[in-house]
Amino acid sequence: MIAVAEGIWCLRRPSYFACSYVVAADDGAYAVDVGMDSGAADFLDGLQATRIDPRQVKGVFLTHWHNDHSAGAAFLKKNFGTPVYYADAEKPFLTRATAKHGLRTWLGERVPEEGPLVLLRGLLEEAAPAAVIADHLVRDGESLPGGFRAVASQGHTPGHVAYFHEPTRALFCGDALAVVNGQLRLMARPVTPDLPAAREAALRCLNEDARYVCPGHRGPLTKNVAEERARLRAQLESGAPWPLLG
Ligand SMILES: [Zn+2]
Repeated sequence: MIAVAEGIWCLRRPSYFACSYVVAADDGAYAVDVGMDSGAADFLDGLQATRIDPRQVKGVFLTHWHNDHSAGAAFLKKNFGTPVYYADAEKPFLTRATAKHGLRTWLGERVPEEGPLVLLRGLLEEAAPAAVIADHLVRDGESLPGGFRAVASQGHTPGHVAYFHEPTRALFCGDALAVVNGQLRLMARPVTPDLPAAREAALRCLNEDARYVCPGHRGPLTKNVAEERARLRAQLESGAPWPLLG
């Protein structure tokens, strides 16, 4: 568990350094992404360190359907009644309408939910491990409970959404941006199927007046944020090709 700022925690796992976040609010707390375990064990373990009871979590905001971000959502909704938020374009994946049948599913179901194979499981099946119906489908620019605002940021997936927390100016950017060694970066090209959309998404995220950038992997950027936003924006606007490794 990494304390990002007052009332914001990053729960990070050893696999891919996949990050979920918990944000304290007046009425309880909110979570952004709750991968990677379909029993939510990894999320709940991390939550314990913040001393927040799972019943106090008033909403789960999913950035996108990939199982290293969304796997725990169905369990939390079923067991604690936690409302789940995501964008309409992620619905087919999160409700498993896209789930492949046949060999890919057979293989996917046999991939363990631990270690470096966990993402492969979701990609083989092309669906989240457990179907979860949204309590609310978020729209771009919409104000959400807990002081969050949705920032549509497609490219990595068709309905990727970042969440800007107005009270703290923390941007939860999922896989629309990356943070590597204290620098803002793009995601690697092979995991960016729609490059023009992802470029637009990165710019939209960088244009938010964020004090902290909290990505889906590795860990948050809390220092030199304004400088890093300006630097990456200039790189994108220069028209330089998308770097292979982000
Ligand atoms: Zn992803």
